[in-house]
Order: sequence, then C-alpha cells, then structure tokens
Amino acid sequence: MKTLKDLNVDNKKVLLRCDFNVPLKDGVITDDTRIVASLKTIKYLMEKNTKLIIFSHLGRVKEESDKEENNLLPVSKRLSELLGKEVLFSESTRGPQLEEMINNMNDGDILLVQNTRYEDLDGEKESKNDPELGAYWASLGDCFVNDAFGTLHRAHASNVGIASNMEGRSCFGFLIEEELTALQVLDNPERPFMVVLGGAKVADKIGLIDNLATKADKILIGGGMSYTFLKAKGLNIGKSLLDEESIDFCKDVLSKYGDKIVLPVDNAVTNEYTDTEEYRVKDIEVLNDDEMGLDIGPKTVELFNNTLSEAKTVIWNGPLGVYEFEKYRKGTEEVLKGLVTNNIKTILGGGDVVAAAGACNLKDQIYHACTGGGATLEYLEGKVLPGIDCIK
Ligand code: AMP
Repeated sequence: MKTLKDLNVDNKKVLLRCDFNVPLKDGVITDDTRIVASLKTIKYLMEKNTKLIIFSHLGRVKEESDKEENNLLPVSKRLSELLGKEVLFSESTRGPQLEEMINNMNDGDILLVQNTRYEDLDGEKESKNDPELGAYWASLGDCFVNDAFGTLHRAHASNVGIASNMEGRSCFGFLIEEELTALQVLDNPERPFMVVLGGAKVADKIGLIDNLATKADKILIGGGMSYTFLKAKGLNIGKSLLDEESIDFCKDVLSKYGDKIVLPVDNAVTNEYTDTEEYRVKDIEVLNDDEMGLDIGPKTVELFNNTLSEAKTVIWNGPLGVYEFEKYRKGTEEVLKGLVTNNIKTILGGGDVVAAAGACNLKDQIYHACTGGGATLEYLEGKVLPGIDCIK
C-alpha cells in the first residue's frame, strides 16, 4: 500500500480527494464527522507547506436544480473553522477561474473545488470517469493523494481518473490507510476466524457469504436474513422477513457449510412491525403464523457469545435485529458487549452494524469500525476495488 510516508509532497501542488459527502439541511451541515475525519491528512499536508487543492463529491447531481442543495461552499466554511485558517473556494470545477485561483495560491494555501459531480450534468463526466476530465484535473497538480474511502469501489474521474494520470505520483491518505490496514487483517486472519452476519436481505449478501464462507471457521447468522436460512431448513418463520428468491441459495450454503453455520435458537417476537408491543421471547421452532422475529433472543445471545469467545478474529456485517427500535437492539448490543469484554479483534464491516454500535455507545471499544458501506462490502466480497487498483 502506497501511503503518504512514501510520497515526497514537500512544497508540491497536491491534489487531495476527500469524502466530504456530509448531510446538509437547508445549507447547514448536520453532521461534520467526515470533515473532521479528513483533518489528519489535511494537517499533515499543511505542515509540508503544500498548495493543497481538494476535490470531493456531494450528493447526486442529475439536473441543474440539484446544484443548489449539493453546493460544497458550506463545507469550505466548516473546514476553515476547523482549521482556523482561510479555505479558498472555487465555484467552478474547471476552466480559467479555477486555474487562476490555483496559479495565485501561495505555499500553505488550501483550495476546495466545487462538487465534482457538477460535471455529471455534462454526460456524467465525473461518475463515468471521462478520460479528458481525469487528465485535466491531474494537470492542475504535481501529485495526488486519495483519502476518500467511501468511493474506492467506484471508478470516477476524481479518484481513478486523476490517479491514472499520476503514475508514481499518487498515494493513499491516512483515512484510507487506516481502513485498508484493518481490512487486510482478513487476508490472513488469526484463527479461529468467525463471521457474524445480520441485516435484512440474503440477496444483498450473496457475494459476501460466497467469499467468506470458505475462509471462516464459523459463520453466525442473525437478524432478518437468518429467517430465510431457517425457512430453508424447513422451519415455520411466521411473518418474519423472508427473501423468497434466496431460499435455494441458503439450502446450498447449508449443505456445503452446515457444520460452520450457527443459527438463532430463540427470538424476540411481535405481531406487527412496531416497538409498541410488550417484549416477548419465543424459541425459534414455535413461532406462530401471525408472529415475526425482530431480534435474537437471550439463548441465542448466549450461544453466539460462547461461540465467539473462542475467536481470534471476527468480521461482522449487519445488525442482529431491528436496532432502530431500542427494544430490539438488545441482541446486537449484548453480542457487541461480549466481543468487547473478551477483547476479541473485531472489525465491523460498515453500514448499519456500525450505526448500531454507535447507538449502543460501543463503537469506540471495537478494534475497528469501517466507514463507507459500499466500499467495505465490495472489499469483503473479494472484489478488486478500482480506487485501490490504480494506486499500487
Ligand atoms: P443491511 O443493510 O442488510 O445490513 O440491513 C440492515 C437492516 O436490517 C436494518 O434496517 C434492520 O432493521 C434490519 N433487520 C435486522 N434484523 C431484522 C429482522 N429480524 N427483521 C426485519 N429487519 C431486520
């Protein structure tokens, strides 16, 4: 992995790709976590006296009217507050105005370029990695640092496009370095290596199961997706979440890897999908037709925690219940606590399980919580990510 330590950036004009895709409401940033997360790389580059030119996307820009709500200007203001330093802002993503601003930069200056997806209005040039656009942006700097983990699975002009025109002059920033270092633990995991899978649909996790099933020593399945496996085993799952088209896939997985798979033995049930019913637990075998399972039950928590206590490495994707309802977050919380108490090297693979760990105030105690759901998922599926492949 080529990182900032491998690239001489001193006094250079550095192009930096960040992920400033922050939530905005009426032009106000409601969560600046992503901006804060990029400060380590930005401050390092400031210390190296660079002229720093930052690119990021924000939301989707499909029509002219999408521009206003996806304008990066509020991000440049917030970045400036966080750094205690002026951040220049270019309204244009190309052309004389941008070029003149860059030409007038002094060492140590920072410039944020308008949302790269403004270029999508003209034939999706950013999202389809238009070769001319990537080459143009690359021509604006001496070297390129990619620190936008969440877009590594996409070949866009502002990541792959720039990097492929900067061969030998590109590297990853600290954020990507940290994420990839954690994920690389899985290339050769310390064993027993166990996988915890939850979430809603089996269909969304087929690639993941295919890739991890052969590597894992145990696969613990909970959450909505466990019911399709239970159905495949011939159990009555009542009104619980069923992914009909994946039943055959589940049968196949059970027949190939049955000895590795651990399924729930009890669950918290309701008659409707709400959190207003009294919390009640039932064994899996005795679900009624009018009941649905919204969380794993205490016996399953014990079974999962006992199994996981033997693990040396754990990767976890998807919550074990409807964590959005506090009542049905319990299963996910208790298993997270078990991993923390037993000090097991656990990687939370993006998305909802990270949000669940945050909601339980356990995120900071976990070995690593990946950001960037899509990129993490594709990495775990064993795919080659274009954003990684272009910086070797
Ligand atoms: P995913 O994006 O596939 O990881 O799915 C996350 C979603 O799965 C969350 O919104 C959870 O509410 C949902 N989920 C987890 N367990 C269940 C369950 N037993 N029944 C219905 N939905 C569930």
